[in-house]
Amino acid sequence: MVAASGPRAVERALIVGGGPAGDAVAAGLRDAGFAGEVVLVGAERELPYERPHLSKGYLLGIVPRERLGLRPAEQYRELGVELRLGERVIDLGIEQRTAELESGAAINWDLLCIATGSSARQLPGLQSALHLRELPDAVALRDLLDRGGAIDVIGAGFIGCEVAAVAIQKGCHVRVHEAMEQPLVKVLGRELGRYIGQQHRNRGVELILNIAAVPKTAGPILVGIGSEPRTNLAERGGLAVDRGIVVDELGHTSAPHVFAAGDVTRFFSPLFDSHIRVEHFQTSQRHGFAVGRVMAGATEPYDEVPWFWSDQYDLNLQYVGAGLSWDQIVTRGDFGWPPFTVFYLHQGRLVAAAGINDHHTVARARRVIEARAAITREQLADPGFDLRKLIR
Ligand SMILES: Cc1cc2nc3c(=O)[nH]c(=O)nc-3n(C[C@H](O)[C@H](O)[C@H](O)COP(=O)(O)OP(=O)(O)OC[C@H]3O[C@@H](n4cnc5c(N)ncnc54)[C@H](O)[C@@H]3O)c2cc1C
Repeated sequence: MVAASGPRAVERALIVGGGPAGDAVAAGLRDAGFAGEVVLVGAERELPYERPHLSKGYLLGIVPRERLGLRPAEQYRELGVELRLGERVIDLGIEQRTAELESGAAINWDLLCIATGSSARQLPGLQSALHLRELPDAVALRDLLDRGGAIDVIGAGFIGCEVAAVAIQKGCHVRVHEAMEQPLVKVLGRELGRYIGQQHRNRGVELILNIAAVPKTAGPILVGIGSEPRTNLAERGGLAVDRGIVVDELGHTSAPHVFAAGDVTRFFSPLFDSHIRVEHFQTSQRHGFAVGRVMAGATEPYDEVPWFWSDQYDLNLQYVGAGLSWDQIVTRGDFGWPPFTVFYLHQGRLVAAAGINDHHTVARARRVIEARAAITREQLADPGFDLRKLIR
């Protein structure tokens, strides 16, 4: 049990949030030799798990619930991490270094890490619609899709597209409504967005683009219009927040001894020379691990190239980089005939790449971005040009 108050001989690190970032912060603390107490408070009842399965294998029924976990309970014991699951922090207690829980309990801390992640964005007037963020959402959605019938999906972002793909495979009638001119247009651009849209149409999804208003329907609706960082505790604690908790490349917030990691942050990326907010599984884990290590005294900044994937039907999309904006697009391979990859350049520099069933090219592009290597359009477009030549 955690002592509520009073002087302590050992230091205590408190992690708020039991997602992949919070889990990795705990591992990072131990990895860098933190010898004090580590307490992780998570509002969900489950052990930290892999959220990406919720819109893919778990929803399809091919990944069982037992395989969602990031590590078994005994590993937390071995790491010396006290888990307080199903509990919610309602105040961080920045001044007194004492966090308050919904249950009324208090936890003193010497080091704090906020890893509260994101929540699904809501549409006004549609509070009763389904969303997909946590395991109980996926359980409810899976039950619904297993019954067949019709479903309206609002938003052709990654979650909307993945749910549509699963629903069609389960024999549902699927309508996807999107406000933009193509699915995923902001991340992938018009061309690749159109290609993704066409893949859904080919398999029977009714895709309605450029919608100006929410459709009227009496049937079930899934809203997948992105997510928002859960910054309310940080704001209340007076920390700097700008569309995410602002942290430097080491994970420091604007308050001493207070760190933040994962989806909830907008972290400084030396590689992109700007603060970026990334909502990817791998980044949340690696960022969390790096920040945990810094909390224990390490000094290496987090400076990795973001990477994520999406599975829709037999298409595996992988994306590296942070194409915040781009002025040129170059394709390697026959566009529309996987495997192929689209490269995004900004002022002549490769900033991102998105491949369809082309993970080798994407992995190499990641290293080119990492190395900030100079590259020409011709080299990118030529499948015979080995990108590894630029980074050796
Ligand atoms: C359906 C779905 C599919 C996805 N698919 C992919 C994918 O294919 N590829 C990819 O790269 N990424 C994917 N992602 C994104 C990825 O899962 C997230 O980037 C990652 O989970 C972020 O980790 P996190 O720990 O920062 O935040 P979260 O996973 O959001 O975890 C935060 C945790 O903090 C808890 N919490 C919040 N407030 C409190 C509080 N006050 N007290 C205690 N606990 C609190 C929450 O309950 C939650 O458990 C997907 C996300 C979803 C929802």
